[in-house]
Amino acid sequence: MTDAPIFSPDSWQLTDGQAALAERARTLAAKRFAPRAAEYDREAEFPTENYRDLAEAGLLGICIPESEGGLGADLKTYMLAAAEIGRYCGATALTFNMHVSSCLWTGDLLDRLEMDPATRATHHEMRRVHYRRILDHGTVYAQPFSEGGASAAGFRAFGTTALKVDGGWRISGKKIFASLAGYADYYGALCTALQAPGDPHLRRNTMYLAVPADADGVRVEGPWDPLGMRGTVSRTLIFEDVFVPEAEQLMPQGVYAAAASRWPHMFMTLTPTYMGIAQACYDFTVAYLRGEVPGTPPVKRRMYPTKRIAVANMRTMLEQTKAIWFQAISEARPDPDKDSLMRAWAAQYTVMENANELARLAIRTCGGQSMLRSLPLERLYRDSRCGSLMLPWTAELCLDKLGTGALYETGETDDD
Ligand SMILES: Cc1cc2nc3c(=O)[nH]c(=O)nc-3n(C[C@H](O)[C@H](O)[C@H](O)COP(=O)(O)OP(=O)(O)OC[C@H]3O[C@@H](n4cnc5c(N)ncnc54)[C@H](O)[C@@H]3O)c2cc1C
Repeated sequence: MTDAPIFSPDSWQLTDGQAALAERARTLAAKRFAPRAAEYDREAEFPTENYRDLAEAGLLGICIPESEGGLGADLKTYMLAAAEIGRYCGATALTFNMHVSSCLWTGDLLDRLEMDPATRATHHEMRRVHYRRILDHGTVYAQPFSEGGASAAGFRAFGTTALKVDGGWRISGKKIFASLAGYADYYGALCTALQAPGDPHLRRNTMYLAVPADADGVRVEGPWDPLGMRGTVSRTLIFEDVFVPEAEQLMPQGVYAAAASRWPHMFMTLTPTYMGIAQACYDFTVAYLRGEVPGTPPVKRRMYPTKRIAVANMRTMLEQTKAIWFQAISEARPDPDKDSLMRAWAAQYTVMENANELARLAIRTCGGQSMLRSLPLERLYRDSRCGSLMLPWTAELCLDKLGTGALYETGETDDD
């Protein structure tokens, strides 16, 4: 039996384009990714075959503008499609997000920010290089920005530097948790541009560059044996004086810092993976209590009042999660007002925390046999644990921003 969409096009009033792309993602992920997910998880192996399928289905170009030959999804449309992937393979959805971000930032997000004509023309020339690779060759981009310090949280300039030299940049630094490490063709790295070695590190000089994976000085190191999201293969990436030609810029210098501050909803793109996991936990519980999980005896458990109440609680939590998430992604735009921004933080917090809570409730409700490794629930439980740890909007930082936003007006301090 085919699963119903997470967001029914009628009830949630999706556009035809949104419904079609979500459907394309759901069909592919249910048929191809779900059966492979357990092995990628067990072996902590990158889902290479899934990426071949994503390329074949045209989904690697989901956020490449239509004018450039892609599917032209905006942020909301992408999020709806990505949630359907997360439902069947969290590691594929999370790594897919890293790839897609390179196109979303350079595509819809920058297209909706004003730019002088000359900068716009330069930007279009730059992004076309990357779009053609993705569309013509199935090239995959990673998105390493985390460094283990305050930079990934947005409080400091990146420690990874891009020193200007003749014809390009020399990149040096270390990125931690670089999903797709060793598998991506290019690392879309955020670094701080320097004109000379001793220059101060300034956030406004953030550069977004595609570092070729096979360039001299690029190294992937360290083990990868985490609790969850094992298929993301998020190992450490070292850039040792790597020469990157000018043509590898993903956007003109100086544009990223402005875009990041004006487009905060962009940081929500880590959530669809976990929205999908939340739905999967609920779906599994319903099927299990109805005695309909393939590979398990057809034993029904739905007749117990305690199970009905437990499922009712799960459904309520799922509906709350879907509602705030859908509202927040529907509001995504440059320069959101404070109320909208606070809702985005609340939505991020809700999805990341509730995905894990729903996984916990699912195991408690279904019982001991449901956590056997032959079934997906224990993987959903482990994968869902990672959501609230993702910078820059970890669960803790969302609460901090929300609390501060609620109690202080902009610029207000307790010294007043
Ligand atoms: C499966 C997985 C895949 C990932 N893939 C990628 C990827 O592809 N690219 C990428 O760039 N990153 C990726 N990350 C990294 C992720 O976004 C975080 O950067 C990383 O998990 C942070 O590690 P940490 O908790 O050790 O960070 P720390 O910086 O040590 O932070 C620890 C905690 O302290 C809090 N904290 C941090 N800074 C502050 C502050 N200034 N003020 C107050 N509190 C603060 C936060 O709540 C944070 O959770 C991935 C992480 C996981 C788990």
